[in-house]
Parts: sequence; C-alpha cells; structure tokens
Amino acid sequence: MKWGVIGASTIASEWMIDAIRAQGGAIEVLCSGSGEHAHEFASNHRIPEVITRPEEFEPFSLDAVYVSSINHLHLRQVEICASMGLHVLCEKPLTLDLDEARSMLQICRKAGVHLGTNHHLRYAATHQRIRELIGEGAIGEILSARVFHAVHLPPHLQGWRINAPEQGGGVVVDIAVHNADVLSVTMGGYPEQVQSMTSEKSLGQGVEDECMSIWRYAGDRLVSTHESFVTPFAGHGIEFHGTQGSLFGQQVMSQAPVGRVTLNDAQGSREIDVVHRNLYEGVIADFAESVNDGRAPWCDGVSGYNSLATALAVLESAKTGQLQSPNLWSA
Ligand code: NDP
Repeated sequence: MKWGVIGASTIASEWMIDAIRAQGGAIEVLCSGSGEHAHEFASNHRIPEVITRPEEFEPFSLDAVYVSSINHLHLRQVEICASMGLHVLCEKPLTLDLDEARSMLQICRKAGVHLGTNHHLRYAATHQRIRELIGEGAIGEILSARVFHAVHLPPHLQGWRINAPEQGGGVVVDIAVHNADVLSVTMGGYPEQVQSMTSEKSLGQGVEDECMSIWRYAGDRLVSTHESFVTPFAGHGIEFHGTQGSLFGQQVMSQAPVGRVTLNDAQGSREIDVVHRNLYEGVIADFAESVNDGRAPWCDGVSGYNSLATALAVLESAKTGQLQSPNLWSA
C-alpha cells in the first residue's frame, strides 16, 4: 500500500513508520505543519515529499493515510482524506467528544473508505494468548479483572499530555481508551457502568495525571483500572480471575512486544509460552488486509468510538462523583 502520514510525531517516528514498511507499505509523503522539524523528520525517515496541508495530497498516488497528529486535529484531517477517497488509520483517541467521533465515522462511511483506530494492545501476542486460554476454558467463567496501566510519562511525551485538555491532555483520554479497547475483546464488550476518581499530582498542569475506577461489565463482572503518568516503578499488567483459575499478564500494557503470561489454577502456577511479535505491525497488517479484502479492520472506527465513550464516562464520573454509563455506539 502507498501511504501518506499526517504528523511529524513521536509515535510515527518510534513505531509506525517502521511498522508500515515492515508490512511492505511505502510512505510517499509527510503532511506536517512544523516547518524545519518536518523536513528534518522526512529526511531522517527517508520520506520523499513534505506537504503542509492534507488538501495537498494527490489521491491517485496514495491508498491510505495514517493520522498521527495531536488529537483535536484528527477530525478535520480524516474528513479531508476521506473526501479524497483515501482509507484512514487514525490515532486514538479518534476525537475529543462523541459528536465529533460520530461525524468521523459517518463521513468515512459515506465516502466508502475504511477507518481504523490504532489501539495496538489487542494485537499483542500476550493478550492473544490470554484470549485463547480464556476461550479454551482455562479459567472457567470470568468473574473479574484488574488492569494496572500505571507508568511514568517520559519527558519527551509530556508536552500537551500534561497541560492541554483542549488537545486531549490528561491520563484518562490518553490511556483509559487503550484499557477499554483491550478489555472489549476479552470481556465481550464495553462496561455498562463506571465509577471513577482522578487526581492531579506531580505532572498534571490542569489535567489529571492519575485515575482509578471500577467498571461493571455485563454479567455483573467488575474490573478495576489504574491509569497513571506519575508512577515510575509500578509496573503494568492485566489480570483475569475466573471460577477455575486466574491469568496474569505482567508488563503487557506496553508498546514493545514484551511481557509474561502466567496461569494459576488447581494444578499450580505455570508460565505460558508466548511468541512475541511487533504490535504495530499487527495493526498495519490487519488494516492493509481489510482494505484488500473489503472487510472492516478488526479495530475499526466503532471500536475507537466506544473506547472514547468509555474514557469520557470515566472523566464524567470523576467530575460528578456519580456512576456513569458510557454512551456506546448505536447506528
Ligand atoms: P507528538 O507530541 O510527538 O507530536 C504531535 C505533533 O506535534 C506532531 O504531529 C507535530 O506537528 C508536532 N511536533 C512534534 N514534535 C515536534 C517538534 N520537535 N517541533 C515542532 N513540532 C513538533 O505526539 P505523539 O506521537 O505523542 O502523539 C500523536 C498521536 O498519537 C496522539 O493522537 C496520541 O494520542 C497518539 N499516540 C498513540 C499511541 C498508540 O500506541 N496508539 C502512542 C502514542 C501516541 P505536525 O503534525 O504539524 O508535524
């Protein structure tokens, strides 16, 4: 596939450009408004052309665009690409409110282009092994789960994430969307209710930098979640507790293909074999295949909408102190 990239961003630089190329994709053009930085970025990543506005894409020379700009810019950029007939893989969160996310989905549907959301965790081999084991009945019926996605935001990522709520700053919109997504493919959907508290500690400058919640799923299954920008040594992971056993994914809420899965049951405790693979290459492979086969990507626009709906319910619960039900997608 021939790709355009919007945003001379960290995620494009650290992961996505390599992932596109590893899956046989060619990056034809970078769209960036950041002048000298954009040209340096394109040169470092061997991208032949730089444009400053998505309107300058030449649609006949591209198949798809990867949108990796700051969150509040996503909608307009996706809209322009879709109107040119280009398929779009958009970064999470798709937008900052649900009306905008709905518009994005509708615009792409009307234009007949694919919309994918870059939730990488569901493509991890560790999470796949956990889903397989649960599907085989290794832990019986799921009773509850715990997600601890508590990290220390490195200095080069702090910028808008810690001081610009209007651009999508704050740990909830940044990280809880990933938790909602990876849980959705194991729990069979999104929470029916959430109850949350947030706090602003050492990094947040007008936005929350830590959050804890209880999410209730269908079947009265409870999940506790912890998102943080300020905990350097907490480690991260996910646990599923069932009637016949428990599964522990340690260090598995990562961008890198790492982590361990352990199963505890009546036979004892044992580590599960995992053959790691690059998560973002999984995203790209699935997206490219979906375009070729004419099916929706596994992590499509509706998935991105619902993960955002969950994160926004978390924020609303923290603000009001009340239980909230995410406003999930309905066509
Ligand atoms: P960055 O803060 O690195 O970049 C965002 C934009 O800021 C760039 O597109 C660029 O604007 C501008 N910019 C960046 N560096 C410079 C610089 N040195 N000089 C001038 N301008 C600069 O964003 P992230 O990569 O952290 O995040 C981008 C998107 O990706 C967000 O939506 C985020 O939520 C998402 N993300 C997703 C992850 C995932 O695993 N799926 C992980 C991390 C982020 P311009 O576009 O004009 O070039």
